[in-house]
Amino acid sequence: MKHIKVQRTFTRGIAEAEAFVYEKTELKASQNLLRDEFEIQDNLKFFEDAVNAVSEDLNELAEESAIFAGHLSIANDIALKEAVISKIKDEKQNAELALENTIQEFSAMMSAIDDAYMQERATDIEDVGARFMAALQGEEFGGLDHIQKEVIIIAEDLTPSDTSSMNFDYVKGFITEKGGVTSHVSIIARSLGLPALVGASTILENVQSGDTILFDAESGDIYINPEAQIRTQLLEKAEAEAVLKEQIAARVDLPVITEDGKKLKVYANVGSAEEIQHAMEYKINGVGLFRTEFLFMENKDFPSEEEQFEAYKSAVEALDNEIIIRTLDIGGDKELPYYEFEAEENPFLGWRAVRMCLEEIDVFKTQLRALLRAAVYGPIKIMIPMIISVEEVDQVNKIIDLCKAELRAEGVEYKADVPVGIMIETPAAVMIADKLAKVVDFFSIGTNDLTQYVLAVDRGNKRIEHLYDSFHPAVLRAINQVIKAANAEGIEVGMCGEFASDQNITEVLLGFGLDEYSMAASETPIIKEKIRNLNFVKAQELAEKVLASGTIKEVYDLLGME
Ligand code: PEP
Ligand code: MG
Repeated sequence: MKHIKVQRTFTRGIAEAEAFVYEKTELKASQNLLRDEFEIQDNLKFFEDAVNAVSEDLNELAEESAIFAGHLSIANDIALKEAVISKIKDEKQNAELALENTIQEFSAMMSAIDDAYMQERATDIEDVGARFMAALQGEEFGGLDHIQKEVIIIAEDLTPSDTSSMNFDYVKGFITEKGGVTSHVSIIARSLGLPALVGASTILENVQSGDTILFDAESGDIYINPEAQIRTQLLEKAEAEAVLKEQIAARVDLPVITEDGKKLKVYANVGSAEEIQHAMEYKINGVGLFRTEFLFMENKDFPSEEEQFEAYKSAVEALDNEIIIRTLDIGGDKELPYYEFEAEENPFLGWRAVRMCLEEIDVFKTQLRALLRAAVYGPIKIMIPMIISVEEVDQVNKIIDLCKAELRAEGVEYKADVPVGIMIETPAAVMIADKLAKVVDFFSIGTNDLTQYVLAVDRGNKRIEHLYDSFHPAVLRAINQVIKAANAEGIEVGMCGEFASDQNITEVLLGFGLDEYSMAASETPIIKEKIRNLNFVKAQELAEKVLASGTIKEVYDLLGME
């Protein structure tokens, strides 16, 4: 048995299954030159068969994901096919060599274009090339769409294309060497409620496909070919958790009220209208953060007003309850395939989110118009990210007024009194929270960014990951200051960063006076249940003690944490 421990965890659950070590298929051709016309004809036929087999596979996959529809059009690309055929016929290269050379040429051509979208296409071409090569060599393509038995995926990293091709009936969890708690793969795992660990830096050298993996996503313990005693122990824990989960699930519909009668909101974070459908399984009562950037990132161009209107309208209609939609939060670590961002030395301190929207007015207006129109169909609230000043709020409000005036003049239906709030995720916003509270309708604290900016610790930098800790007294005092400012002005205050789902801090946040907690839908039942067992008066006493702490250790001790 081998044991590996990952320090930072972000999901819960225990999973046991066979390891599937996922390595992307390498494009390696046998290097032969063809001797005569017979061999040429044979190789043309091999290639034709490979194209047919790959197209058939991709046709099926394309029905489920747009990524594979793109791959299908590459597989059927005439220029690509002609290039391979000409290498076989004219240069007498065998099919594998002709394919390898063609894929390299096409991918190099795309990579050379200084454009993120084209460079992504280079990766897609290589992906399709790997499929062709597997078909030519009579091998199974090592993609994740072929998995037909229960496994735990072990990989260096997983891309959106990888996760979108997984069949979650079979994938019981995943462990990757790379990726942070706020990376794409982590967000997917949380939204699916799947046990997962990222940042397991030595996993690949310790695991082979077929090994039995048992891991506890909450504690970060990974056992490879576990001993009987460990198995019994963990599987008992898993069983107890499953029973508890069922009990909690049975109570999920009950109101979220503390023992002494304080009513709270526990909402979900989502990345798309479709995700709301999935989140509904957890009986969510509202959405505290709809990240609209995914709608922009998955598109080939800026989504039109109509496209956005449909997305927001279907989201609020599906939910039939309050939904806080955040305007475009792009830049920093998030790029758009069709838009060129100038390289910046410090992207997280750069041209991102509202800073971009206030300059790209047309992009911003298109989104605001779509939101104002969709709000006719249900209780939508608009939320602006990365605010640092009252001036920015004034500018945003002017643009919203302009959008309303235009819609009115055009005779288009819209809702006039949509609440507009802001994310509090910069130290500047914390320091002037009292002033901001006078000019907005609500706050939502974004602890993922707030922690990185208060502590000056890059949220994605593994080298300093141990310093990224929202339990730092500086972060806790900042959160308290914001909540107090909101309470004093009588506006609602929520939290939509990952910290909101950490059970260790639930009571303290209640004591500070937080009104709304928003997190991955799968986490909501447990936080609701936790709140039902808390007492507001006692929570305030605990909050006082926590605020008096000067070190992370003191905070951990007060909260009974290790
Ligand atoms: C945050 O910063 O806490 C947040 C919710 O926004 P994002 O993680 O999308 O930056
Ligand atoms: Mg943020």
